[in-house]
Amino acid sequence: MSDRPVVTRIAPSPTGSMHIGTARTALFNWLYARHTGGKYLLRVEDTDRERSTEAAVKVIFEGLAWLGLEADEPAVFQAARVDLHRAAVETMLARGSAYRDYMTAEELEAERTLARAEGRVVRSAWRDAPGDPPDRPFVVRLKSPLDGETIVNDQVKGPVRFHNKDLDDLILLRTDGTPTYNLAVVVDDHDMGVTHVIRGDDHLNNAARQTLIYHGLGWDTPVWAHLPLIHGPDGAKLSKRHGAQAVGEFAEMGYLPEAMRNYLAKLGWGHGDDEIFNDEQAIAWFDIKDVVGAPARLDWAKLNHLNNHYLRQADPARLAVLVTAVHASRDLDLPARAQDILLRTIPLVRDGAKTLLELADATVFVLRQRPLEMPEKALGLLNDETRARLSRLRARLAQTTSWTVAELEALLRDFAESEGVGLGKFGPALRSVLSGGSPAPDLAGALVALGNHESLERLDDALSINR
Ligand code: GLU
Repeated sequence: MSDRPVVTRIAPSPTGSMHIGTARTALFNWLYARHTGGKYLLRVEDTDRERSTEAAVKVIFEGLAWLGLEADEPAVFQAARVDLHRAAVETMLARGSAYRDYMTAEELEAERTLARAEGRVVRSAWRDAPGDPPDRPFVVRLKSPLDGETIVNDQVKGPVRFHNKDLDDLILLRTDGTPTYNLAVVVDDHDMGVTHVIRGDDHLNNAARQTLIYHGLGWDTPVWAHLPLIHGPDGAKLSKRHGAQAVGEFAEMGYLPEAMRNYLAKLGWGHGDDEIFNDEQAIAWFDIKDVVGAPARLDWAKLNHLNNHYLRQADPARLAVLVTAVHASRDLDLPARAQDILLRTIPLVRDGAKTLLELADATVFVLRQRPLEMPEKALGLLNDETRARLSRLRARLAQTTSWTVAELEALLRDFAESEGVGLGKFGPALRSVLSGGSPAPDLAGALVALGNHESLERLDDALSINR
């Protein structure tokens, strides 16, 4: 098996949202496939027909696309493969590794009571039943070994041992002929050529069951790797009270997918003390055997720190599009040249932003349309003395031809000196005039973001207000 090319998969069930635990599992599968030059596949486990609506399936596709973790081949849909699941059960019946169990509900109940009293798992008398089958409904069960051990050689947990006497004869096909979950997973993973099953450790017990099904079919088991779950910052199992849990929520909160990838990679895996690394580095370094066995804790401060890093690195044109979408979702009335304005402004304000939402907040001032409505406090700053000073400053600004942060900083310092006052004497008023009270960067940054023309017009607007 080890010389076969690696095939991994992410196998989400469409529940209507994509949990970040699923996102992390997808990432680890993707990283491992890329690291080994293998393939990374997607299987939609849509056998719960009620929950698996078109919208719920779309959430998975959109979540993976947003994360940049789209599969290498078209998705496999589990529900479409029921005939193949049934055929595998026929094979097992023929091989003698499964049997038809005709126990009635009452008989099963009686066996349950007895088994409990005897401290053992339920066994059906039909396991070794001789004679003619009765004409009544049946389930098909796996003929599990009665003694010995099933060992799941897990890449993260090490060998995990299960006593076979504690594993009952799992149902493979229900009375209505529908396949059960564990059967479907095994048949699908086998048919998809999956060599490595990397998933949450809530599936560790299933791995024992699935191992027995592989044996029953005469197939090799894949390599198993069960990832510890993600916990909240307080160490408790991640739940609603810890805030966002779904990939879509992180997107809405303004995290960048590359920041999420970097962050999720660090949840349960790491490369020394490296905090910040790109996809190429993660791919080069990732190995399943370096996954840590202890649950990982969500750490918002770390995520914010990473997101700020990636916001500072990102192409401003891309951020301009993303920030425009945030403004649009907030019904901000955007000027025609919003993209150009944002392109100019984003590099001036992004250092302080942890999320796209904060970046959007920091760019409202420049997108607001004249004449700005001045808050009362800003109007209060515009006394006669300050107005006279700002109009002298306006004349200076109108003359300057170099509209850069450095030049404007020098101009403002020089102007303050020539007025014989500190910047504090007119800075706050100028800031209000330029921003209308919205958050704005320092004065020279605000002037550059607004541009020469808009800056002067905003000054004119404010200076023409009659008080
Ligand atoms: N569908 C399962 C889940 O969403 C994953 C099963 C598997 O990876 O084998 O938890």
